[in-house]
Order: sequence, then structure tokens, then C-alpha cells
Amino acid sequence: MLIEGVLNEGFVTTEVDKLVNWVRTGSMWPMAFGLACCAVEMMHAGASRYDMDRFGIMFRASPRQSDLMIVAGTLCNKMAPALRKVYDQMAEPRWVVSMGSCANGGGYYHYSYSVVRGCDRIIPVDIYVPGCPPTAEQLIYGLIQLHSKIKRTNTIAR
Ligand code: SF4
Repeated sequence: MLIEGVLNEGFVTTEVDKLVNWVRTGSMWPMAFGLACCAVEMMHAGASRYDMDRFGIMFRASPRQSDLMIVAGTLCNKMAPALRKVYDQMAEPRWVVSMGSCANGGGYYHYSYSVVRGCDRIIPVDIYVPGCPPTAEQLIYGLIQLHSKIKRTNTIAR
């Protein structure tokens, strides 16, 4: 009834934050950062069976066109500077999803001399998706959680 009334009047009132966040969550462009086996599940989530496009999430090949980074796999020390460089090339506002045990905290390789114990030591992470590897469904669930988080954010302040 309320909506009908509003539509009859020909206008809708809302907050700028809510409008901007709604638009942002409807069109996210992830920079795929596939590092190891988890990347296969990330690709699976983007392919036809799980079809991330239906959430408005479509992979980009350039950090300059991306607002989301999915870190999928084992981050070794040699790769850490490249991760930071790619992240720095993404424009604000930007978000990061850490996918899998290795990206979350080193995983199997936690005690290895060559592996970073979590990509959050290099870049800030918004959502952690657990598993080894997480399934495509788990990644999509994590992305939906990210949408919820963005909708709660004061975007203008950020
Ligand atoms: Fe591979 Fe498991 Fe590490 Fe993912 S969490 S990169 S599946 S070892």
C-alpha cells in the first residue's frame, strides 16, 4: 500500500548511502587472484553451473576495472608484493574476499618458510571463506555476505 502510494506520487525517498550501496552490490567486478587449487572452485563458481553473473558479479582481467579481489589459494612470500601491487591499483571503494584455508591463514603450509600465513598480513580482508577448498556454493555464500556487509556500510564516509 505504501509503495503504491509512493508510486502514484511519482517519487521514492531514500538515503544516498542506501542507494549507492544497492547499486554497488548489483554490479561488482572481481579481480580474480587465483594462486592454487582454490582457484579451480572460484572458476567453477563463475561458470555456467553456478553462474555468479546472476548476482551481478563478473570477472575482470584488470585491477583498474575491479572493485573486488578474490584471493584464492596459497600466497607465497614471492607473490606477496604482486598481491599488494595489484590491490593498490584498484580504485576505492574496494573489497577483498579471502578464499580457502591457505589464503585465510596458511592452511596446510602454515609452517612453511615460503608461505604467508594469511593474505590479511598483506592486504585488508572483508570476508573469509573457510574450506580446503571451499565449494563454489561456499564462495557464493561468502559473496552474498559481502553484499550484506556493504549494505550496512556508510559508503560516503568510507
Ligand atoms: Fe589448495 Fe586447500 Fe590451499 Fe585451497 S586451501 S589452495 S584447496 S591446499
